[in-house]
Formats: sequence, C-alpha cells, structure tokens
Amino acid sequence: MNRAAKVAFVALATVIILTSLSAFLFFWSMGEVRGLAAVQSCIANLKELDGATAAWALEHGKTNRDDIPTDSDLFGMTLYLRDKPRCPHGGHYSLGSCSARPRCSIPSHSLEFGDVYVRDEHSNVVSEAAVRVKGGGRDYTMRTDARGFANIECRGIDRGLKPGTTVTVGKHGFLDSQLSTAKGWPLNVILRRARAPESPSAQH
Ligand SMILES: [Zn+2]
Repeated sequence: MNRAAKVAFVALATVIILTSLSAFLFFWSMGEVRGLAAVQSCIANLKELDGATAAWALEHGKTNRDDIPTDSDLFGMTLYLRDKPRCPHGGHYSLGSCSARPRCSIPSHSLEFGDVYVRDEHSNVVSEAAVRVKGGGRDYTMRTDARGFANIECRGIDRGLKPGTTVTVGKHGFLDSQLSTAKGWPLNVILRRARAPESPSAQH
C-alpha cells in the first residue's frame, strides 16, 4: 500500500468503528427505553385494576377488607373495564382487595415498587431506620420516616434494582435485618431489639 492508500484505509476503518459503536449505543438505549415503557404500561394497567376494584367495592358495599373481586365482577361491556388488561411482558395479574393492591407476577411491575415498611417485633413503626441498598452497582442508604416507611427506588427512574440487590435495615439498639428484593413488593421488615447488655446495676 502506498501512503495515500494507508491514510484512506485508516480513515475508512475509523468511520466503520464509530458507526457501529454509535449504532450499538442507539439500539442499546432503545432497548432500555422500550423496557421502561413496558414497565410503565404495566403500572398503568395495575392502576386501572386498582381503580376498578375500588369502584366495585364501593358499589357493592363490600366492607370486608379482604373481599377480592373475580374477573367476571370487573370486566365486560357494562362493567368497570371492558377487557382485562394484559401485561406487555406476559406477566399474570392477580386482583387486589380493599386492603391489598393488584399485582403482576413480574416483581418489578408493582405499584409498591421500592416500598419498605419497618416495624419492631411488637408491630410498632420504626422511624429513622437506615435502609441500605447494595448490589447491581448501587450502594446508598435511605432512612424511614415517621411511619416507618421508605421508598428505595427514588434514586432512579430505571427500576434499576437488579436481581441480587440486597437491602439491609438497621438501627441502633436493633439487630440488622437483611432482605432480597427478588420476592416482590412491598418489603415488610421486622427489626428485633438487640438484647440489652447485662449491666450490674440491673441486678438487685
Ligand atoms: Zn407486568
């Protein structure tokens, strides 16, 4: 090859590499966007199911908080929703009650995604507990509010709590409790009090 051919070859190779790199990045981000759109569409379905269930309970005077409607109670031309919505990722919906939200079988498709409730062994709320999220490139700590509640998703809109993420909840005077995010939402955490150290003054 002469010098001009070499220069042309290097330029061509550079263009090919840059083009394929940007194509890769484009399709990769499109995949991410599509994935997020599917999650949001499932969440919208769950909200519809939640609203339909609430309307059904009100109209039929359901006072038992555990009453769950059936498909034939909610879906039909003259009922609350014309058709039962479908999860874009093929998850299955289970209907909720007055006390529980409807669910998709895919754990990240949840109206309660990222919700963590912390109580002690006597069911008292535990506020100011540290909720540490670790795994999948994330490591941050949130604190529970006065209701013993924290949402650990608020660091991103990508529902980026990957499988294998662990959540460790702790507070001074309590034993740490570690949970996996794989089991679905919300996470209900029970913190047990650490046994008080034996102190001589307690012996009378
Ligand atoms: Zn779903």
